[in-house]
Amino acid sequence: MGTVSALRVKEEPKYPGIVEAPRYSCALGGAYMAALATFNTVPILHSGAGCGMSQNFGQNFAAGLNDAGPTGNTSTPCSCLVEEHAVFGGEDKLRALIRTTLELVQGELYVVISGCVPALIGDDVPAVVKEFRKDAPIVFVNTAGFLGNSYKGYEQFLDAVIDQLLEPQPVVAKRVNLLGIVPYQHIFWKGNLQVIKDLLAKVGVSANMIFTENSGLEALKSIPSAELNLVLSPWSGVAAAKKLEEKFASPYEVIPTVPVGPKDTTAFLRFIADRLDLDRDEVERVIAAEEHRAYRFSEYMAAITSMALPNAYTAIVADTSTAIGLTRYGSNELGWLPEIVILTDDPPEEYRGEIVRFLTENLASAVTPEVHFEIDSHRIRQLLNEHTVQLVLASSLEKHIATSELQAMQVSVAFPTYDRLIVDRNYAGYRGGLALMEDVAYKYGGPL
Ligand code: SF4
Repeated sequence: MGTVSALRVKEEPKYPGIVEAPRYSCALGGAYMAALATFNTVPILHSGAGCGMSQNFGQNFAAGLNDAGPTGNTSTPCSCLVEEHAVFGGEDKLRALIRTTLELVQGELYVVISGCVPALIGDDVPAVVKEFRKDAPIVFVNTAGFLGNSYKGYEQFLDAVIDQLLEPQPVVAKRVNLLGIVPYQHIFWKGNLQVIKDLLAKVGVSANMIFTENSGLEALKSIPSAELNLVLSPWSGVAAAKKLEEKFASPYEVIPTVPVGPKDTTAFLRFIADRLDLDRDEVERVIAAEEHRAYRFSEYMAAITSMALPNAYTAIVADTSTAIGLTRYGSNELGWLPEIVILTDDPPEEYRGEIVRFLTENLASAVTPEVHFEIDSHRIRQLLNEHTVQLVLASSLEKHIATSELQAMQVSVAFPTYDRLIVDRNYAGYRGGLALMEDVAYKYGGPL
């Protein structure tokens, strides 16, 4: 069991040459998913045929049994490069593909995403794309898969949009962009974005979710008009926010997690109220009404909470922002004891100290979690087996480890998740904590 109040951050062994089942795809996958999440956008893959198809199960299906939308998977135009193109180049094939796509596939924005092969053979993708700029809104993203993972691809998509599409605009007061929630990698991305948008609307702030807004192109183009960029992750989206600051003088704030439950959601709203100089009385009225409902509804789960998992030792295996939100809600509002937290999204080294601080400071729990940055699924299994826990909030990969080896309950809350359908489900905001308890109690099965 966990030691009391001891800060436990273990030195990890160096990654081996081969990593077993990392919890993300390549950069092409991340950019591809970001394009699909931007409504009315048509991705055009300049890659081998398998690159796009592998994302079917590699990204969207593993994000809560999701499909990819009308221009995803087998509907995605692809240059399907083969050996001939590796020898003679693929530019002509790409040119023909863009031309026919513009003729046959309706969209507001076309995004050419190039993978490993064009990067290796040196195709001049920017030059080919430039030929079509007069015909339609079109951008390119050079995402050689070997350059990074899906989180990197999300950043590269935003980078391409900022460089190639955005123009300066008048700033609109009380308008914000939501960054840092990575489509599909953060499996509750759709619900999280909508909850934060709706919450901000209640206090008079207009939020641009970018992803899943009705017009993706309009949402992208309006990015520079925001008064503030909100990054809802300690690291994903920070690079884009910095670039927007450099290019359009848009300030940004980093919120380390999508807030889960009343305490963190109230803290979030008060922070926004201060930052955007909102009417404080009005914000407090919203907070009071939302808290009242959330806590009044908590009373309906009092018996099951105290019977099923009183002061449960928990293990969390998830991407960083999800892990921070769940650790804080479990510790600060449910009385859970966070035994171990394993972060699977491979955040850059420069952010790790701060991430550990978010996970270990200001917790009401008597136990401070042991924090690991680990991408190897075998190593994650070994780490979990070093602990005794009652609840595992993790991915589907931990389902049988939890039930067979740890004799613990498990709920899938992180990528990859393929044992539950997640469309609009989320744990964000005032009602998010209730939703989490509903899912945990469902696994518990009740006292009878
Ligand atoms: S790593 Fe390269 S070859 Fe593999 S799917 Fe990604 S872009 Fe394609």
